[in-house]
Amino acid sequence: MPPLPVYLDNHSTTKPDPRVVAAMWPYFTEIYGNAASISHTFGWDAGEAVDRGREQVATLIGADPKEIVFTSGATEANNLAMKGPLDALKKRGNHLVSAVSEHKAVIDPLKRLAREGWDVTFVPCDATGMVTARAIEAALTDRTVLVSVMAANNEVGTINPITAIGRLCHDRGIVFHTDATQAVGKIPIDVRADGIDLLSLSAHKMYGPKGIGALYVRRRDPQVRLQPLFDGGGQERGFRSGTLPVPLIVGLGEACRLASEERETDHSRIFDLRERLHRGLLEVLPMIRLNGHPSDRLAGNLNLTFEGVDGEALMMAMRDVAVSSGSACSSSNPEPSHVLRAMGLDDDLARASLRFGLGRFTTAEEIDFAIEAVSAAVKRLRGLTAIAR
Ligand SMILES: *Cc1c(COP(=O)(O)O)cnc(C)c1O
Repeated sequence: MPPLPVYLDNHSTTKPDPRVVAAMWPYFTEIYGNAASISHTFGWDAGEAVDRGREQVATLIGADPKEIVFTSGATEANNLAMKGPLDALKKRGNHLVSAVSEHKAVIDPLKRLAREGWDVTFVPCDATGMVTARAIEAALTDRTVLVSVMAANNEVGTINPITAIGRLCHDRGIVFHTDATQAVGKIPIDVRADGIDLLSLSAHKMYGPKGIGALYVRRRDPQVRLQPLFDGGGQERGFRSGTLPVPLIVGLGEACRLASEERETDHSRIFDLRERLHRGLLEVLPMIRLNGHPSDRLAGNLNLTFEGVDGEALMMAMRDVAVSSGSACSSSNPEPSHVLRAMGLDDDLARASLRFGLGRFTTAEEIDFAIEAVSAAVKRLRGLTAIAR
């Protein structure tokens, strides 16, 4: 028996790697200077740590350190990415393109921009949750100035063809942003090769601390011009004022360094465990469907519909396994997932879905426990439904 409860919700957040926590510790205790203080060693030491963190983030995504702006997370990075360039772009057009399957942290800023007069198109995803280059191309007009498409979906794990979409945008001089929060550290990302102008990432989705993320901002071919969201001390070259959270930056940097070194071995181990979970459930339970793309998906993601079962009831019935249901993310509202709905699932099927998110610390023992717990709960709930009929 593994230690309980078993954590299989790694798309919501990940456990900080103990090596990340160890790297951060001295910056909470001894090296507490302000990275902007240039007149003493407290400041210099903090500044050096920030430089190192910036370099580690840049290395992971193929960027230049000068192209990294630290933010409080991916939500802020997305807001800065989509609102920041508009002042410079508005003379060229007023049309923005994104997709229905995006995270709320992309959809809601765009909805606000739509209320403020911008023309926003959300293209549909296909039945696998993928946003195709063809769907994006069909939405582009000569007034389109910015496209935002996520690299990998946080609910169904589908990986989008961002290189093809980036190329489409570059050919037309359109700024391309990708919310790569679920992708960075999990699949190879190279901002140059992939034609990305703006990229959002978050430390807590890659075994780093909560409260820190970054926006990559392309500096040449072409340079993206940004306005800050708010003003103050002028840190981060004026793009993001506020005293830098040095311990968090050290944590993000270490998380990126570990991802650079361990991404491939993590990937193959997590992929094998994901397959073990999927096969194990298919062997004992009928009427399960896989949501998302069968092969172009994150190794750690398994999103399944258990026909005839309510996902919320299922989660309650297996309290020792932490997962998310098909009405996840904004768990205060019980609406079925907008992503599953956009993929064509009706409300009942969306509600009968669970998202399993495996990660660096998931063990085979935990997977075997989860197979037992899920199948027992599904059988019991299906039995109850049959009796009620
Ligand atoms: C978690 C997540 C976010 C929000 O990130 P925060 O750092 O918590 O603000 C945005 N986009 C995607 C795809 C996510 O998975």
